[in-house]
Amino acid sequence: MPARRLDGTAWAERLRRELEPRVAAITRHAGRPPGLAVVLAGTHPPSEIYVRNKIATATAHGCHAVLHRLPDTATVDEALALVRQLNADDSVDGILVQSPLPAAMGADAESRVFDAVDPARDVDGFHPVNVGRLVQKRPALVACTPLGCATLLDREDIPLRGRHAVVIGRSDIVGKPMAMLLLHRDATVTICHSRTVDLPAICRTADVLVAAIGRPGFVTPDFIKPGATVIDVGINRDEAGKLCGDVDFAPVREALGPEGWISPVPGGVGPMTITMLLSNTVDAAERTEQRT
Ligand code: NAD
Repeated sequence: MPARRLDGTAWAERLRRELEPRVAAITRHAGRPPGLAVVLAGTHPPSEIYVRNKIATATAHGCHAVLHRLPDTATVDEALALVRQLNADDSVDGILVQSPLPAAMGADAESRVFDAVDPARDVDGFHPVNVGRLVQKRPALVACTPLGCATLLDREDIPLRGRHAVVIGRSDIVGKPMAMLLLHRDATVTICHSRTVDLPAICRTADVLVAAIGRPGFVTPDFIKPGATVIDVGINRDEAGKLCGDVDFAPVREALGPEGWISPVPGGVGPMTITMLLSNTVDAAERTEQRT
């Protein structure tokens, strides 16, 4: 018998419904809906799709979401000026700068522009202040993808206390914050990466395995302990151009067996990520309201 599916689509829909009364309350009390500003610099087809989905989801759930475009030729200073203008705009609760910024802006453009976002409006959770607050387990805006994974585990009541959680990937936006969220749920956490020796042997000791690598079908049955939970963060295209994760889904699902859980791609982490953006925007708007 194959493992059970962690249905990100269904949980995301439910979570969005749960946010609706909070959006309505903010709109009533503040006299305006929660505001989300999305900055898109240059032309990058995948970013166009991501941004369109983010705006559509926020709008469909009662937020006022506005896209701010900058041309391919924009400079870092122009991006910084836009972010500062949004920071000073009382109708904007959340600011998201879509990555990647145009290469012409320079290697340090992303860190400079992300760092310029007001931490209270940083709905991507990338600002060093929010990263630090997460590490210290203080209230913070947390990066949407790891927050979506943790929420999926919480909602499905997957036990984490005292369990061994292995995260493959150490990026600032997925792997590291994911490890923190698992640690804060009392898991014993191992972070693996491209230099890890004997990765499959470490993964076979995992009760919870999070794959955030960016390589199609990288996680095979050889990595699996029967009964474990596998979260697939990867978004890749296979040789036929079909969307797929980092996990070789069908054989891994079989190897996990009926006691195991696995998140599919698509329909797992993706819808949770976009819902966490909505959730962070609502959190940010509620905090703004409490301050005023
Ligand atoms: P990244 O490239 O920044 O990091 C990849 C990590 O994988 C690195 O830390 C690297 O050490 C590790 N890695 C690479 N090769 C490895 C190997 N052979 N063995 C072990 N570890 C290895 O990528 P990222 O931004 O963290 O994203 C990871 C994946 O998640 C990508 O497929 C990305 O598209 C996807 N992603 C999905 C969502 C979502 O909403 N579902 C959001 C963000 C990223």
